[in-house]
Amino acid sequence: MDVRVFQFNGCNKCFNETILLKGESKYKVEFIQDPQNWKEEKTDVSVITGFLLPENKDVLNKIKKNSEKVIAYGNCTTTGGIFALANQKGHEVSPLNKIIGDSISINSCLGEIEELKLEIEEIDLPNLKNLCIVCGRRKTCDYLDDVKRQIDLEDTETCFNDLGYLCNGFVSKECKERCIDYNAPCRGCKPIIERSGIRMLGMFGTLMGNFEVATEHSEKGATDKLADKDDDVTERLPDIVGNFFRFTLPTSGLPKGRIPSNGTLLEDVFTGRLIEELPLISGLLGGDHSISLTLKIIETYEEANNIEVSEQTKKYRNDLIKLENELQKVIQSKDPDQYKKITEEIRKIAGNMNLSNLFFGGFRSKIDENDNFEDYKTHVFDVVEGTYKNGSVEFTIDPTGIVKEIKIKEGYA
Ligand code: SF4
Ligand code: SF4
Ligand code: SF4
Repeated sequence: MDVRVFQFNGCNKCFNETILLKGESKYKVEFIQDPQNWKEEKTDVSVITGFLLPENKDVLNKIKKNSEKVIAYGNCTTTGGIFALANQKGHEVSPLNKIIGDSISINSCLGEIEELKLEIEEIDLPNLKNLCIVCGRRKTCDYLDDVKRQIDLEDTETCFNDLGYLCNGFVSKECKERCIDYNAPCRGCKPIIERSGIRMLGMFGTLMGNFEVATEHSEKGATDKLADKDDDVTERLPDIVGNFFRFTLPTSGLPKGRIPSNGTLLEDVFTGRLIEELPLISGLLGGDHSISLTLKIIETYEEANNIEVSEQTKKYRNDLIKLENELQKVIQSKDPDQYKKITEEIRKIAGNMNLSNLFFGGFRSKIDENDNFEDYKTHVFDVVEGTYKNGSVEFTIDPTGIVKEIKIKEGYA
């Protein structure tokens, strides 16, 4: 079976993951990194990866015309994904089915290769459970007195929402990457229902004691707050859009924001987010540079604020950088066995390919059963206003810890 995989814009992690298709002799796989110059050819299956912009419409229609089946693989392509957060600042990231009409969607960030194989072979996907059903934490659904922003690692049994950390597990399907297993709350990359962000907002509102929710334009037309006036919710949980609609903004039904752009599309994704969310965002969208991008952001802040990290933390971080270099070579050679081996090693340290285990001060969960976790356990850090810079990454945060501006050297995503 002929399978053509196309990489459009931004993070190339889903594209790279399709190297694993080459491990199956039944597929004849071709990788197309420059779709705009693709020579039109008929194919059985076209797999689309990366986020999509209006200028990609013509070539996407050509792909549709020449393919028996078109599959959108990964959230960037199915819902606009995390890059669509930049739509608040005037960009036009769109889901594939809004551009070419119906297509098959494999949601999640990173897209799950097992689901892609099933779709290619027209085998029904398993009936997946709600993420909460398979989560090791347990819900009590008591009213919340307080919303918290940083995870306290001492309690590993109670539901994140009950502890005051927003977790989108209520509205997500069971998934492969399982951020929740690495002390990172779910951000909802694999929605189980339509308009999952609005539903989650309602649920969190109920836990908080039924605050009023009005998703309106602000005076400036922004969507990054709940109503014209700052209310209790926006004060306690800033970055509503980034928290509830991280992967689904174009399909959320929220009014389109018109906040002025701060820079490139990538920079506009980060601006307005919380400092403690930066590793979770850079871990997703840095493509084959996501490890170095995430560590640069973390280490820049640590150094400026004298956050000491242990020797064991440094060792694991160095191992990850070496693995990223090896991964980049394997991506060139497209060797599926090597790709599998190296990504498994990355997962062992970083938790998953979303790098959920990386954080300020150390790691969120234990890496090796022989380790003493106290040696490299992350800790709650103070938010310190300022500008942080180390050459390829520079960001400014305000007194509440919101990123006001960020500059990222070309080459990352
Ligand atoms: S950001 Fe996520 S969905 Fe988009 S290409 Fe990267 S891994 Fe895939
Ligand atoms: S909301 Fe999150 S932490 Fe709570 S049970 Fe569901 S997945 Fe687990
Ligand atoms: S736990 Fe992580 S990978 Fe799983 S659905 Fe939530 S955000 Fe996605």
